[in-house]
Amino acid sequence: MATTEDVLKPDFGASRKHFIFTDDHDRLRESIGAFVEKELQPHAQEWEDDKYFADWVFPRMGELGFLGLSYPEEYGGQGGDYYCNLVLAEEMTKSNCGGLAMGIAVHTDMATPPVFLFGTEEQKQRYLVPAIKGEKVSCLGITEPDAGSDVSGIKTRAVRDGDEWVINGSKTYITNGHRADFIVLVTKTDADAGYDGFTLFLVDMDSEGVIREKKLEKLGMHASDTALLAFQDVRVPADAVLGQEGKGFYHIMWELQGERLIGAAGCVAGAQRCFDRTLQYAQERNAFGRQIGKFQVIRHKFAEMATKIESARQLVYMTAWRHQNGEYPVREISMAKLYASRIAVEVADECIQIHGGAGYMKEYGIERVWRDMRLNRIGAGTDEVMLDVIGRSYGL
Ligand SMILES: Cc1cc2nc3c(=O)[nH]c(=O)nc-3n(C[C@H](O)[C@H](O)[C@H](O)COP(=O)(O)OP(=O)(O)OC[C@H]3O[C@@H](n4cnc5c(N)ncnc54)[C@H](O)[C@@H]3O)c2cc1C
Repeated sequence: MATTEDVLKPDFGASRKHFIFTDDHDRLRESIGAFVEKELQPHAQEWEDDKYFADWVFPRMGELGFLGLSYPEEYGGQGGDYYCNLVLAEEMTKSNCGGLAMGIAVHTDMATPPVFLFGTEEQKQRYLVPAIKGEKVSCLGITEPDAGSDVSGIKTRAVRDGDEWVINGSKTYITNGHRADFIVLVTKTDADAGYDGFTLFLVDMDSEGVIREKKLEKLGMHASDTALLAFQDVRVPADAVLGQEGKGFYHIMWELQGERLIGAAGCVAGAQRCFDRTLQYAQERNAFGRQIGKFQVIRHKFAEMATKIESARQLVYMTAWRHQNGEYPVREISMAKLYASRIAVEVADECIQIHGGAGYMKEYGIERVWRDMRLNRIGAGTDEVMLDVIGRSYGL
C-alpha cells in the first residue's frame, strides 16, 4: 500500500517486475544474462561476418541447462514453467546477435516442443534428451519453395511402403538446416483427406537422400544458417511418425503458437534494448547547444516508442500467463506476434533516425537490429496471416 509520502512524486525508477515472474525467474535471468554477455556477445560480430555462429554454443548451453528450461527433469530438463522460456528469449537479445537468438529459439521453442508433446517415449529418448544436452541440433521443416503461408499447399509427400515411409520433396528457409542432426518434417500423406492428410516425421539429417542444397543469403539474421533442403526417396521406419498419422496439420498449428509467442517476447526485449541504447545516445549527443534528447520532437519519439513497447510487453506477458495456465489463446498469440513484431521494426527504425548518420553505420549495431527485426513480420506467419487469423476468430 502506498503511503502519502510515496504518492507525492512519481516513481519512474521503480523495478518493472511483472507478476508472472518470481525470484527464481529473476535468478535465472541473472544467470542467463551473465552467460550471454560474457560468452556469446563478444563473438557477435565474428559470427555475423562468418554467417554462422559457432557449433560449441549448443553443447555449452546444454551443459548450463538452458536448452531444456521447461522440460521435465527426467529428460534432462530443468522442470521450470513457460516463463523460463520467456526469460531465455529475452536474455538472448543481450548477445546483440539476432541470428544466434533465432537459432537457439528454433531448437528450444519450435522443433523440440512437438517431440515432447507428441513423441513416443523412444522418440523422446532418442531426440529430446540429446537435444536438451545440446548434443543433437534440431530444425523444423514446414515452408517449401511453393508454399509458405498456405501450409496446406505443401507438396512434400510421404508414401507408405511396407514397414517404411518414402519421403520426397523440398523445404526452404530452414533455420539450422545446415547444422541440424534431425528435422521435424511436415509432409502430406493423403492428398484427398484435406487437413486430415498431413503427418509429421522425425528424420535424421544424415539419412540417405537428404540433401542440404544451398546456404541462403539474407537481409539480416546473418549468424543463423538458413537452408534449402531436398528429400529424395528418403526411407524412414514406421516409428519415425511423430504424433498421430493424418493429424500433422493440427500438430504443426499448435507448434506455431509457441513459436509466435516466443518470437513476440524476443521482439519486445530486442526493441527495449534498442530503445535503451538509443536513449543513452540521445543523452550524450549534442546539437545546437543541447542534448538531442531534449528536443521535444525527439522526446516524443521516445514517449511513443516506450508506450508501444510497454503495450506489447503486457500483451505478451498476459498471453503467456493464459498459455501457462492451460488455455489455447490463438487469437491473443496472433495479436501479440503481429503487434510485437510491428513495433520492434518501428522502434528500430526510429532509433536509426535518432542516431542520425551513426544509425546507418555498422559500428553502432542499430542498423543490424532493424535488419534482424524485419524478419519477424514475415517468419512464423506474416502480418497478413496474423490479421486473417484474428479476423476469422470473430467469425468473419
Ligand atoms: C530467415 C528466415 C527463416 C525462416 N525459418 C524457417 C524455418 O526454420 N522453418 C520453416 O518451415 N520456415 C521458415 N521460414 C519461412 C517463413 O515462415 C515463411 O517465409 C513465411 O511463413 C511466409 O511464407 P512465404 O515466404 O512462402 O510467403 P508467401 O506465403 O508466398 O506470402 C507472400 C505474401 O503474400 C501474403 N499472403 C499470403 N497468403 C495470404 C492471405 N491468405 N491473405 C493475405 N495475404 C497473404 C503474405 O502475407 C506475403 O506478404 C523462414 C523464413 C525466413 C525468411
